[in-house]
Amino acid sequence: MTIQKADNITWHPGHVTREERMNVLGQRPCCLWLTGLSACGKSTIAMALEQVLIQRGYPAYVLDGDNIRHGLNKNLGFSPEDRAENIRRIGEVAKLFVDAGLLVITSFISPYREDRDNVRRLLAPGEFVEVFVDAPVDVCASRDPKGLYEKAMRGEIRSFTGVSPDAPYEPPLSPEIHLRTHEQTVEECVATLLDYLQRKGYLAGGLRRPT
Ligand code: ADP
Repeated sequence: MTIQKADNITWHPGHVTREERMNVLGQRPCCLWLTGLSACGKSTIAMALEQVLIQRGYPAYVLDGDNIRHGLNKNLGFSPEDRAENIRRIGEVAKLFVDAGLLVITSFISPYREDRDNVRRLLAPGEFVEVFVDAPVDVCASRDPKGLYEKAMRGEIRSFTGVSPDAPYEPPLSPEIHLRTHEQTVEECVATLLDYLQRKGYLAGGLRRPT
C-alpha cells in the first residue's frame, strides 16, 4: 500500500494545557496497551475495566481490534506490513485520545515487539503502559469464543497468530503489567490494572466541573 505524503503541514498548538485538561477530568491520561494471543482475554478485560472506570467517574475509552478493522483500518489485512500499519494508525489514534485526556485501553493482538515499541516511542514517558495478557495457546484455543482457532487449524484462516508458522507472537520482554488469564479471573485482572493506575497516580479525583 502506498501512502501519499502531504507537504506544507504545520502543527497548530491549542490554548488548553495538559494540566487544564487533567484538572477538569481528574486523571492523568495514559494508554493501557493490551497485547496477547487471540482469545487470551484482551477484549473481555478491556471492556470490564472501561466499565469500572466510567462508573467511578474516570473518562476511559476502549479501542478494540475488530471494531477498528471495521472502519479506520478496513483496507488492511494480516501481512506483517499491514499489521505494522494497523498498529501504527492505532498508535496515532491512541496518542490523540491520550492528548484529549482519556484513559485509553487498547485491545489488539499486536504480535510484533517492534510495532509495540514504536507506539511506546510515539507517546510520552509514562503514557504507554504495556499489559501482557498471557495465556498458553492451548488454553486460548480451548476457549475459542469466535471459533477462529478451529478455522485456523482447518487451514481456513491464513497467518493466524500463534498457530500459523508465518505468524509468530513475540511476548513483551518487560511489560509494565503481566496478567495470566489462565490463573487469574477477569475480576482479578481488572483489580490488578486498577491498582496499578491508582498506585502510579493516574487516578486523581475523577471527573470534575471546571471552577
Ligand atoms: P481476545 O480479545 O484476547 O481475543 P476475548 O476477550 O474476546 O479475547 O475472549 C476471551 C475469552 O476467555 C472470553 O470468552 C472470556 O470469557 C474467557 N476468559 C476466561 N478467563 C478469562 C480471564 N481471566 N480474563 C479474560 N477472559 C477470560
